[in-house]
Amino acid sequence: MSTPIEKINQFTRRELSESEVYLFDVILCDNDIDRDLESFSESALIQMQKLFIGKTGIFDHNLQSAGQTARIYDTELVKSPDKKTKDGRTLLSLKAHAYMIRTDSNLDFIKEIDAGIKKEVSVSCSAGRHLCSVCGTDKALSACNHISGKKYGQKTCYTILDDIQDAYEWSFVAVPAQPAAGVTKYFKTASVSVPDAELSQLLSELEQQTRSEIFTLCRNQALPVSKALCTAAEKMDLRELVQFKKSLLEQEHSLSQADVQLADFRQK
Ligand SMILES: [Zn+2]
Repeated sequence: MSTPIEKINQFTRRELSESEVYLFDVILCDNDIDRDLESFSESALIQMQKLFIGKTGIFDHNLQSAGQTARIYDTELVKSPDKKTKDGRTLLSLKAHAYMIRTDSNLDFIKEIDAGIKKEVSVSCSAGRHLCSVCGTDKALSACNHISGKKYGQKTCYTILDDIQDAYEWSFVAVPAQPAAGVTKYFKTASVSVPDAELSQLLSELEQQTRSEIFTLCRNQALPVSKALCTAAEKMDLRELVQFKKSLLEQEHSLSQADVQLADFRQK
């Protein structure tokens, strides 16, 4: 078993002494259903237990100077048999042991933690699976008919966040997003990169489709699809084509309104 300072010194460039560091604990998150009707699965919490070790935390997003950071040197899962989640499961929390180097600039902050202020924590991580609590469908892959917050028999529908891919950072925020643990989550989705050739192919297909929609709209409104129109449409980019289509749709709408009014008039 290594001591806290031994664990801390795994992450530091120079060896720190116990008097140089300030140690404190924070609850990062738990398995209760939060305001967004989301809940971490037990295995997600176990994954995060490993992923958050060594991760840096910041105090408010506007105070990112070097002296204003803390780091997690150890984590533990805490089971509270006397506390239940909103749907009656035993509360399981992810507790982090963190340290910061004592400096003049964080003296006040340390005082605030000691006084029990500013303990709300926000974490950011990415979840690979967003499961429906009623039927288990992965909402990222397909949809189901269950609506978050509604009851289905004995089960309340919410989203189970599972398969945590990475943990990014944690921070102290002034206002907690979740009443219990003070957790907010935001997810970084991997951006999909489309090869340039594929992208231009996609664009030209979209342009072609919009052109043929334009010609159909013209014919519907008894406008001749002349050679001049075809040439003009051929020269338009997607943005211009969409704009043109929109004006034709508006025209069609006002024409049909006029037809209705005319029919009304004839009936009178
Ligand atoms: Zn479902």
